[in-house]
Amino acid sequence: MDSATLLAIDRAHAWHPYTAPLDRDPVYPVRAARGCELELCDGRVLIDGMASWWCAIHGYNHPVLNQAARAQLDQMAHVMFGGLTHEPAMRLVRTLVELTPEPLQHVFLCDSGSVAVEVAIKMALQFWIAAGRPERHRLLTIRSGYHGDTFNAMSVCDPVTGMHQLFNRVLPQQVFAPAPSCRFGEACAEADIAPVAELLARHRHELAAVILEPIVQGAGGMRFYSADYLRQVRELCDQYDVLLIADEIATGFGRTGRLFACEHAGIAPDILTLGKALTGGYVTLAATLASQRVAHGIASGAPGMFMHGPTFMGNPLACAIANASIELLLAHDWAANIQRLEHGLNTGLAPARTLAGVAEVRVLGGIGVVELEQPVPMREIQRQLVERGVWVRPFGRLVYLMPPYVITDAQLAHLCAAVVAVLGEQVEQAE
Ligand code: PMP
Repeated sequence: MDSATLLAIDRAHAWHPYTAPLDRDPVYPVRAARGCELELCDGRVLIDGMASWWCAIHGYNHPVLNQAARAQLDQMAHVMFGGLTHEPAMRLVRTLVELTPEPLQHVFLCDSGSVAVEVAIKMALQFWIAAGRPERHRLLTIRSGYHGDTFNAMSVCDPVTGMHQLFNRVLPQQVFAPAPSCRFGEACAEADIAPVAELLARHRHELAAVILEPIVQGAGGMRFYSADYLRQVRELCDQYDVLLIADEIATGFGRTGRLFACEHAGIAPDILTLGKALTGGYVTLAATLASQRVAHGIASGAPGMFMHGPTFMGNPLACAIANASIELLLAHDWAANIQRLEHGLNTGLAPARTLAGVAEVRVLGGIGVVELEQPVPMREIQRQLVERGVWVRPFGRLVYLMPPYVITDAQLAHLCAAVVAVLGEQVEQAE
């Protein structure tokens, strides 16, 4: 199909993430992707700064992942998981239990990040129903969070600055603490944790769980907060016997420099959600892990089963690719590689620090963020970045990078230089 036809169909019929059907924003026809590069239909090749939103950690078209997919296709692409079990899923379940903190022993495989969050919330609610405490049905979360686009997930996104305000009237009403102001690497000030303590004390009789993104608040602002804060939230959850759900859909599998971001604080959640990089970005798969206490609690109450069971649960093809992706990650010194990315992002983005209009540049692991004082004209900046041969999706006041882990030093330098140059030109035009 030629690009003009593709674009015509797209304009007439396709919905993209957070767009209107008649959107006139540019979309770029892409025909292939390999390594850290996207090849557009017009032949231009772009260095990918997004890893398809945290996912494609090994880059695109990786021979090991391709081979895992092919081998599994020849074996069995899908069977329903009800009453049947299989090696790809069992290998994955065992690996996830081994890699995550010890209390997490029970794995629910589902289809997407939002569904994994939905499952996590339902687990927390059902745990308290089974315990004879159905009134414990609310969640406490922190502002600037993002947990997905389904109804319960939307209810714990930031209710004011988030993307779902439109639905506030019909969403479950949750309890919100202010976003922590203590930064990653800093101690947590009393003023940061006191509101969480106060809200937990006040609402403890109706709270099922606290849900948060550990260390990195992603789509809600790309903020990196103190590990000390996370540690204290865990302690408060213990004190008030409220479950802790850690949403590691974005941070899981090494992005922050630890395999899971909870490790920065040395804590274990009661429920953990994983997605995105789980399959190296090849196919959609997510997982919700629960502690023995949660799983056994659910099993001990009526109806004695967890009330969720998606059609594509435990899809063998997705599981086989996830197994290959995790093996590939662990086969290398991934932590040293993330340090290399952190160094490259720090060095490459440093010149942005002195640009007028730049509020802050922050880097953690394989994440680099340039925060501007004013929202950027996103589409225009993106167009200029494409002209410079890089693929980045600025959002609001943020230009952020989370490249595939396989990006070379030279590609990373090019990526950062393009961002700095385009933002520099933007500032000049504004003056
Ligand atoms: N939780 C977090 C922390 C996320 O970053 C996202 C996706 N941006 C989700 C949940 C939702 O995942 P999905 O888009 O796969 O539904």
